[in-house]
Amino acid sequence: MDYDVIIIGGSYAGLSAGLQLARARRKVLVIDAGQRRNRYAAHSHGFLTQDGKPPAQIASEGRAQLMRYATVQWLDGLAAQARPVAGGFQVVLQQGTVHTAQRLILAAGVEDELPDLPGLAQRWGRHVFHCPYCHGYELQQGPIGALAVSAISLHQALMLPDWGPTTLFLNGAFEPDAEQQTQLRARDVRVEPGAVARLDGAAVDVVMQDGRVFALAGLFVATRVRPGVLAAQLGCELEEGPLGPYVKADPVRATSVPGVFACGDLARPAGSVALAVGDGAMAGAAAHRSLMFGL
Ligand code: FAD
Ligand code: MG
Repeated sequence: MDYDVIIIGGSYAGLSAGLQLARARRKVLVIDAGQRRNRYAAHSHGFLTQDGKPPAQIASEGRAQLMRYATVQWLDGLAAQARPVAGGFQVVLQQGTVHTAQRLILAAGVEDELPDLPGLAQRWGRHVFHCPYCHGYELQQGPIGALAVSAISLHQALMLPDWGPTTLFLNGAFEPDAEQQTQLRARDVRVEPGAVARLDGAAVDVVMQDGRVFALAGLFVATRVRPGVLAAQLGCELEEGPLGPYVKADPVRATSVPGVFACGDLARPAGSVALAVGDGAMAGAAAHRSLMFGL
């Protein structure tokens, strides 16, 4: 085996996992494709001591701190294939190189599937968001919207009035029943039943099919998330979350496949930088424990 542990994904979760293993003087390879989920956002919020910092800066400081440890190697690239072999696991990169380790930590995050609405993708992370805790405060209590994608958007709309006067744009995605309408009224959410044509404007204007325009400070949308192919290749069990499937992992972040750990957004129904860092620390320590005691 080339390494004690290969970590796939070198962002917040993977870096944090690596730090525990590095401090135990274990031989670690981090493989990272450099596509952090929050790369569209200028600022990251809600992580203690780092509140308001550019997300890239938090990641690059983390990487610099990890790479000070002599037993850690870094590889820029995409892990295309992972499979169990005698004594551990084999990971094949897209460019064809093969690496082996006794344990594997999946920290590869998720991809957001954005609704196919003209003007949305270019506003993602700037005026269109999924998480009010991350970006709601900065909207300064201006008018905000929730773009419905399914019944899940009811919950998002019910949260949002704490950050500003809220309109739920149904856009044909779902129809609130009588009880849901009562819930929406109780939270002062205005419901706009029409179809949305596109997003426009310097911030975000919601342009309806009938030509009406709602000028908003921010728009929230619940994205579907995908956990990537490696967990499935390895045979890790998945769980179905409200936003999509995620890798099932126990409290110490062990997956259903012995020797494979998973942390960060990939292994949670919903994530954040702070949760990814905490999760990674747990996965790193658990992988180390499993190396020490052969668990
Ligand atoms: P990621 O940060 O997504 O990193 C995964 C890494 O693994 C990437 O570098 C990726 O390229 C790599 N990778 C994936 N597959 C492979 C592979 N096969 N081989 C090699 N490498 C691979 N959270 C906050 O706490 N505060 C915020 O303000 C905030 N703002 C956000 C804004 C936006 C627009 C979005 C979309 C999310 C935001 N989040 C925020 C959530 C935050 O981005 C995630 O919770 C966090 O990035 C999860 O960290 P992670 O390490 O699990 O995954
Ligand atoms: Mg990571």
